[in-house]
Amino acid sequence: MIMKINNLNYIYNANTPFEKKALDNINLEINEGEFIGLIGHTGSGKSTLVQHLNGLMKPTSGDIIIDGVNITTKDANLKEIRQKVGLVFQYPEHQLFEETIYKDIAFGPRNLGLNEEEIHNRVKESMELVGLDFDELKDRSPFELSGGQKRRVAIAGVIAMKPKILVLDEPTAGLDPSGRDEILGEIQKLYEQESITIILVSHSMEDVAKLVDRILVMHRGKLEMDGKTREIFRRADELESIGLGVPQITKFMKVFREKGNDVKDDVLTVNEA
Ligand code: ADP
Repeated sequence: MIMKINNLNYIYNANTPFEKKALDNINLEINEGEFIGLIGHTGSGKSTLVQHLNGLMKPTSGDIIIDGVNITTKDANLKEIRQKVGLVFQYPEHQLFEETIYKDIAFGPRNLGLNEEEIHNRVKESMELVGLDFDELKDRSPFELSGGQKRRVAIAGVIAMKPKILVLDEPTAGLDPSGRDEILGEIQKLYEQESITIILVSHSMEDVAKLVDRILVMHRGKLEMDGKTREIFRRADELESIGLGVPQITKFMKVFREKGNDVKDDVLTVNEA
């Protein structure tokens, strides 16, 4: 097991009139090599949860154990945690800042104190993993790139740290459909090529259906559902009751069938009625 979360709670603005419980007793186990989709409406707590996973936020209560280390203790080594758990934020391109793409991707590895040769190898490898041509682009400014390409540079910067767990928070937000498909395709490829655990956050069932083996559904701060992809969308009634209902599920199933998966007829009938 690579990650275990015990009774995790988080309250924003605790003990003020603006108090808001964003995570409500989350319990979760994740095994090495899983590809997981974390879905739920805006405001369900997805971002709050993932920011806990690399120590960026500290829980109000509860424990998070990553690779055998409790990261919620006072003396937790944040640098080590962030190397293990790479978090790609929403709109990560807003955090690009170096004058060349090379320098931007090299920033994290350089902070690890790696030598130039290792840094070079990591930059090259991670650019290739996200479909960016190293020779053509390494000396260009990240600010000259298209939105989708900038986002790949930002993702490459996280991959270059060689994290064991990669968390992507809405990696397709704001991209057009072709940009979206490209990024998702790169993520899929990355998963196939590297031995890595991926948590993909999305409010779109369609996006996660294309890729993941297991789905976590958040609702009002709770982990409402957790199961294999097939199992989750067999539970169409539950999804509907939390507003992730029929139109989304129908789309979701279409994608599922396109991938050549057989779907039980009764579920299809329910959703296409
Ligand atoms: P999601 O990522 O699923 O959209 P969030 O984790 O961003 O959900 O938000 C969960 C809840 O916490 C929402 O009700 C949101 O309004 C609230 N929230 C998020 N960030 C803050 C903050 N900085 N201060 C107060 N409340 C917040």
